[in-house]
Amino acid sequence: MGSVQIVTTILAAAITAVAVWLAVRAVMKMTAVIRLGQPAPERFGDKGARTRKMLVETAGHTRMLKWSVVGAAHWFVMVGFIVLSLLVLEAYFEVVTPGGGLPVIGRWTVFGLATEWIGILGLAGIGVLMAIRLRNRPNRPGNRSRFTGSTMWQGYFVEWVVLLVLIFGFVIRGFKVATDHFEYPVWATPLSHAVGAALPAWTAGVSVAALIKIVISMTWLIVISLNVTMGVAWHRFLAFPNIFFKREPEKAAGSGLGALRPMMSDGKPLDFEEADPEKDQFGVAQVEQFTWKGLLDFSTCTECGRCQSQCPAWNTGKPLSPKLLVLSLRDHAYAKAPYLLAGGGKDLTGEEKATAAQLAHVDVLALAEAEKPLIGTAEEGGVIDPDVLWSCTTCGACVEQCPVDIEHVDHIVDMRRYQVLIESSFPSEAGVMLRNLENKGNPWGAPQNTREDWTKGLGFEVPRVGEVDDFEYLFWVGCAGAFEDRAKKTTRAVATLLNEAGVSFAILGEGETCSGDPARRIGNEFVFQMLAQQNVETLNEAFEGREKSKRKIVATCPHCFNTLGNEYGQLGGEFEVVHHTQLLAHLVSAGKLTPVQPVDGGVTYHDPCYLGRHNRVFAAPREVLGDSIQGELTEMPRNSERSFCCGAGGARMWMEEKIGKRINVDRVEEAMSTGAKTIAVGCPFCSTMLNDGVNGKGAGEQVEVIDVASVLLRSVKPDAPAGEKETESVAG
Ligand code: SF4
Ligand code: SF4
Repeated sequence: MGSVQIVTTILAAAITAVAVWLAVRAVMKMTAVIRLGQPAPERFGDKGARTRKMLVETAGHTRMLKWSVVGAAHWFVMVGFIVLSLLVLEAYFEVVTPGGGLPVIGRWTVFGLATEWIGILGLAGIGVLMAIRLRNRPNRPGNRSRFTGSTMWQGYFVEWVVLLVLIFGFVIRGFKVATDHFEYPVWATPLSHAVGAALPAWTAGVSVAALIKIVISMTWLIVISLNVTMGVAWHRFLAFPNIFFKREPEKAAGSGLGALRPMMSDGKPLDFEEADPEKDQFGVAQVEQFTWKGLLDFSTCTECGRCQSQCPAWNTGKPLSPKLLVLSLRDHAYAKAPYLLAGGGKDLTGEEKATAAQLAHVDVLALAEAEKPLIGTAEEGGVIDPDVLWSCTTCGACVEQCPVDIEHVDHIVDMRRYQVLIESSFPSEAGVMLRNLENKGNPWGAPQNTREDWTKGLGFEVPRVGEVDDFEYLFWVGCAGAFEDRAKKTTRAVATLLNEAGVSFAILGEGETCSGDPARRIGNEFVFQMLAQQNVETLNEAFEGREKSKRKIVATCPHCFNTLGNEYGQLGGEFEVVHHTQLLAHLVSAGKLTPVQPVDGGVTYHDPCYLGRHNRVFAAPREVLGDSIQGELTEMPRNSERSFCCGAGGARMWMEEKIGKRINVDRVEEAMSTGAKTIAVGCPFCSTMLNDGVNGKGAGEQVEVIDVASVLLRSVKPDAPAGEKETESVAG
């Protein structure tokens, strides 16, 4: 070993020892913070499916590849990071001796070839990612960047480290080539040989370059260890467990879509018959009341801003960004952690749990952080502003896009639950809706005995459950479908089409009550459970003696469709629920409904969030429309998985939209920009929102917003009255 190698070896060992010590400390700290969360025993089931999903999503980059260029570039960088970590390890042999290499595989041509090309593609990949970050930097004039609010220096730092580590990998190899210490052939390692041809035959160069590579790598480790909230770096490790422990690993898309997580206390679903707010946790009022998976979610956020770029609230000037919400919760959790780890925290009656002695040595900043209300305005020092919390439409665009499977909607609703159930703090205008649900069983407060009014004048009898011996489908009408004038036309259109196709169906009539979706999404789990239990009992009675596959329900409202199909199982109601567009598509393809007259003028389709993103029903409505117009749909730029919300989900239908541009106006502008004369929808709430948007623009005479069923009915029965223009907007 020469004098240069003695120095490089000592320096490499020293910086590595410091970095490893700091990294172990950081991992222990992060683990301790994540363990502060509440139990989530359901996350440990079905380890096989979890492992499979984790491998598919990481190795296959299935979520990242939705953004094809970024996804491909990131895949090469990820593979580069994993494989080239071996080359960092090899650098420890090279600081000792210029001819050093990894034992066993270090002289294997396949290893040389693989690492060479992964290095080359990694360089290209990081170049692309750096260019994208620079092009999207928030301070660029006129740029609405997905990186707004991200900690930019951390992103640049991580990218430069990857770039330099890759470059020095080739410099080391180049010096080995130049000094005749390199054993791989030119065909396997062309770039290394090209670099070697440009470098002097300096023997110490190998060890010096290897030391620089180690210093860069260990500096990275030191920096991220001193910044445990640096998700852009830590996600390389945390993404694996975060995906493994996702809510429903068997789901094809975002696991936090579809059903909401039930309200939990101490790892068990809360039973309102026995629940006691002084003993049981009602939603989330303190950051440590999220589960450990929630805290792992916050720690894993890469700050990539994909969620932010798709969020309807953010895109229309509301203060909510799902990314910034996650970052605020993360920073608060880590800042408060020293107080919690010392034994601090409030019990459910609001009393401090720790003694003065326990808190005596806690940092004053951590004590101050602990005093912040989780939900509060800037003046109150709140972590999350109420306007942020109440801006969410629960559209799921954030969950859909997040590459590391963060479950934003569950976290938002958990915080809403505490605000509604314990603090009674929510936008006052939504109070009317909640009172109507409790007293009248529907959000509009319409009399229950008018639920069947939509059946009048149909020209055929609509059978009620109990009046007929048998029926194939229970037609779940929904409150909008029963009481709201525009939605009633959809209900009539669907009933007419089912009757035309000879489908045997029956309604519950006055036995139906609200599915509970708006109560659940606003956070009033108590009212949701009250309504849902009543419905589950009614439905179980209606289907008595039938197996699940024969307990078929068709619903026109995607919110009912989602709640009945995905959430009633949590209360003992197992049903086969289809959306009316799915049943209609089936009836057309089976030849039971025949579109005869093409609907002209051009049709575009707006995907309802709870039908599309939350339940993956994208094709059926498009098939029905394609058959009805006997031609191609005109798609909006944002469609299918990336569809833009109408603004009504998450109980926003019953709240004022006071901040920023109206979401429905943004969506209507996009729909009208297609030039289509018909905007087809598959949801009564979307219908209301888009109709309001069209009318607000004074375009009610030129553009029509109608349900897919009404479009089909016009084509199947051109003279049917239910196909008339849906311009009325008054709730019944
Ligand atoms: S659910 Fe929709 S509105 Fe809510 S934060 Fe996510 S993207 Fe934004
Ligand atoms: S998409 Fe996921 S990882 Fe990216 S910023 Fe949003 S929450 Fe974080």
